[in-house]
Amino acid sequence: MRILVVGGAGYVGSHCLQKLLATHHDAWAYDNLSQGHREAVPEGRLIIGDLLDTDLLIKTMKTHGIDVVLHFAAKALVGESVVRPDMYYKTNVTGTLSLLDAMVAADVKKIVFSSTCAVFGSVPPPITENLPKNPINPYGFTKLVIERALADYAAAFELEAAALRYFNACGASADGSIGEDHDPESHLIPIVLQVALGQRPHVQIFGTDYPTPDGTCIRDYVHVEDLADAHLRVINHLKAGQLVDYNLGTGVGVSVREVIETARRVTGKPIAVVESPRRSGDPAVLMGDASKALRELGWSAKFKAIELVIESAWAWHQANPSGFRK
Ligand code: UDP
Repeated sequence: MRILVVGGAGYVGSHCLQKLLATHHDAWAYDNLSQGHREAVPEGRLIIGDLLDTDLLIKTMKTHGIDVVLHFAAKALVGESVVRPDMYYKTNVTGTLSLLDAMVAADVKKIVFSSTCAVFGSVPPPITENLPKNPINPYGFTKLVIERALADYAAAFELEAAALRYFNACGASADGSIGEDHDPESHLIPIVLQVALGQRPHVQIFGTDYPTPDGTCIRDYVHVEDLADAHLRVINHLKAGQLVDYNLGTGVGVSVREVIETARRVTGKPIAVVESPRRSGDPAVLMGDASKALRELGWSAKFKAIELVIESAWAWHQANPSGFRK
């Protein structure tokens, strides 16, 4: 298939692009490089363009005869979305409408969208697809708005759409060629590993008074290669005129303190912590139930143990202490 990976120079997008190329699909990254990395995309596979540039999207889809769009391009930081909702609505909502309009104009029917467990807000775990969706931060709201737009566009224009709701994406490619590199970094696992590398003095624990066994937030860390695998599978399970949805988690909840403790074991480094106030917008517990993905797509996470995830991320961080910067 001929696939346009929008946001394909970013973290999850680049791992997906790598898997598509490895499985003999013809795929290109479309990315404005605002957060993505040129180095994360193989030679000749990068189209530099903005999500808001509908004309360029139409031209790109027509020129490359695109069959499927995988849409990863988004702003995706909970804390930032609370203080800069404007950026989130513009990139995520307006940007996705531009992409959908381009697909309709270029007659591209299939789209797989990177959604998030943040659309649910605070619901008791494990989180299944049919639970109520009441986001508690602007990031989650923008993703929920897009899911709704996808369902409406699918019905009106015979699109075939999927929303894959990731829990916490993490880890790096097995061949060590690409991994997680955000600037500035705000995610827990890379920050913990930067402390292990001596690049930061400590990691802050945001909130130690949550109603969880050790007082810190619990998350479901799902490996980026497992996420890429789910994208490949769902392409064959799209339905005309509909939005299908799948929650992609491991079903295993890991607290902030457990992540840090595991990273101490994996790296052999002490990893200093500073207990800090809660970060706004964070639910106490997010843990996915991916039984629908198993039933319908045959998908389940191969990386279930947090040790394996942290070993994979640690291999990338050790080999690339400055990320993609040489
Ligand atoms: N977290 C933390 N210290 C950090 C970064 C994150 O305690 O320096 C916590 C954060 O509050 C959340 C969890 O780690 O409970 C995972 O956060 P991350 O930003 O990695 O992903 P998110 O859950 O926001 O998608």
